[in-house]
Amino acid sequence: MLNKQRLLTPGPTPMPEQIRLAMAADMIHHRKAFFKEVMAETRAGLGELFGASLPVLPLSASGTGAMVAAVCTLFAPGEKVLVVEGGVFGERWTEICLAHKVVPLPLKVEWGQAVSIDAVSEALDRNTDIKGVLVQHSETSTGAMHPVKDLAALLRGREPLLVVDGISAVSVMPCPMDAWGIDCLLTGSQKGLMLPPGLALIALSERAWQKAESVADESYYFNLRKEREENDKQQTHFTSPVSLILALRESLRLLRSTGLANIYRKQWGLAQMARAGVTALGLQLFAPDSYAWGLTSILLPEGMDAGRILAEAADKYGVIMAAGQGGAFKSRMVRIGHMGYVDYADLAAGLHAFVRSFQICGGYLGCRNYLEQALDAYWTALEQGVPDKYL
Ligand SMILES: *Cc1c(COP(=O)(O)O)cnc(C)c1O
Repeated sequence: MLNKQRLLTPGPTPMPEQIRLAMAADMIHHRKAFFKEVMAETRAGLGELFGASLPVLPLSASGTGAMVAAVCTLFAPGEKVLVVEGGVFGERWTEICLAHKVVPLPLKVEWGQAVSIDAVSEALDRNTDIKGVLVQHSETSTGAMHPVKDLAALLRGREPLLVVDGISAVSVMPCPMDAWGIDCLLTGSQKGLMLPPGLALIALSERAWQKAESVADESYYFNLRKEREENDKQQTHFTSPVSLILALRESLRLLRSTGLANIYRKQWGLAQMARAGVTALGLQLFAPDSYAWGLTSILLPEGMDAGRILAEAADKYGVIMAAGQGGAFKSRMVRIGHMGYVDYADLAAGLHAFVRSFQICGGYLGCRNYLEQALDAYWTALEQGVPDKYL
């Protein structure tokens, strides 16, 4: 009780009071007029958030449910897709394809790096029968950002669909679906949207809906065609996740009243802040060049154990952060989440807790003014705004 709990994980993320209160409301019936009003409002808000003119469909599932829905709606068994594989979530695309008999061609990317547009272009030239390119905008397991805007430009006028897992990107960094030319964009509730886990959101382009018609076997549960028909009537196909939709309405109201541009600017600022702090400490950023704005991944020096550091940070300082995910880096990486309802003061607490815990665990850090440098970087970034190339 001495410290507040600060949830600085790359999902789930903290929830603002308005959202917590919406979750506490009594149940309403999902086929009656009031719920339809709520759905109509969220439909408009989601369209703005995704930058999509066609409907953004809610599904009762964690984010991965929308990934499954994308694969089985858009690609028939035997069809080939190129998968950008630079972390756990890229690998998840491959696993989902295999489970649904879609043929993944993994394009391996070194963890922490972004995929190169040239490599994608070459792979497409080598395999002219590729029907889709599957990628993460923010690869949450490494903290890297893949260049979705450039991928969309590359694919413009070509057959393959661009399918983007935006689970830790939507409402964190710009990825306007129609303007960039994304064919499928999806997200989950527990990241930038500041909601509890359990809701997935997915939108398709006109072209993607057409491609879906060529896929004969429809999933019984993740049937986007039926979801779209129901969505036009302010309904969902099965019983709606009512509390989550009520909370989503509050989230979208908050995003709108703050302004998406201001949110992206804050997220950009928090990324600069974390990176300046980590660099001042003399530690290594795991995603050095192209990085996501909703989390920062730190590669620990040899001999340091992420699990021990995180346990100290949680027990002594009340800050919950994440270790690496899967594979070789699990205990060598600390990931600080800073998306959604997280501000500069929370992140300062996070950096501080990380540093103290690192030292308790025997690590040596020379720098004393890392917090000052981090905060300077934040306010400077806020003043200068998001660089044009990301918009
Ligand atoms: C969190 C996350 C997921 C997984 O979402 P679940 O809600 O756990 O199913 C998938 N992709 C990315 C990029 C994520 O950040």
